Amino acid sequence: MNIILLGAPGAGKGTQAARIEETYNLKHISTGDIFRYHMRQQTEIGLLARSYIKKGQLVPDEVTVKIVELALKDADMKDFMLDGFPRNIYQAEALDKIVDIDKVIDISVDFSVLMDRICGRRNCLECGYTTHVSQLSDGVCPKCGGEMQQRMDDKEDTVKSRLEVYSEQTAPLIEYYKSKGKLFTVDGMGAPDKVFEEVRTVLG
Ligand code: ADP
Ligand code: ZN
Repeated sequence: MNIILLGAPGAGKGTQAARIEETYNLKHISTGDIFRYHMRQQTEIGLLARSYIKKGQLVPDEVTVKIVELALKDADMKDFMLDGFPRNIYQAEALDKIVDIDKVIDISVDFSVLMDRICGRRNCLECGYTTHVSQLSDGVCPKCGGEMQQRMDDKEDTVKSRLEVYSEQTAPLIEYYKSKGKLFTVDGMGAPDKVFEEVRTVLG
């Protein structure tokens, strides 16, 4: 089974991806995670990606598509879950030339809650645990004791551009996959467990 997770920034793709990976044994391919890895390692791709990510813009398609092709090969081209890709029609068409997608899950959330969800998001530097700042009593990870940090692109100005990019470039993918009969929408407004229940109904 090959699936795509769609949804605005802050819709909860990462949270659901972790559960799906565990339950369905699908290889999680997150372009955001791959770019962050490159930024930490300060590779050429990382330096390039940083200049776009800090402004809330998309990394150029040629680079992104190449990265995904490599990740798909690593995943033997099957039983994967794409998270954060495709993000525009060009990327979706490029993907269609490489692999078959079975289902696309769109995690749907009211736009009004996204700003707070993203600007309040904190991530553990050690284990990657993600939560909202309101759930933390200090800057320490409740899972492993590591340091909780805000992503550089989770600051308000950058989030505004990310949401614009989503509306203009990524949201049209909903129609794109609907017309192919592959789109399944789940309500992303509830608690993570509740959202995952809906995901399970879709994936079986
Ligand atoms: P979110 O879904 O919360 O916006 P991600 O971790 O998926 O965060 O992505 C972070 C940033 O990485 C994006 O804002 C963008 O700059 C870059 N990026 C990730 N995926 C893609 C993609 N498919 N195409 C272009 N840029 C991407
Ligand atoms: Zn941690």
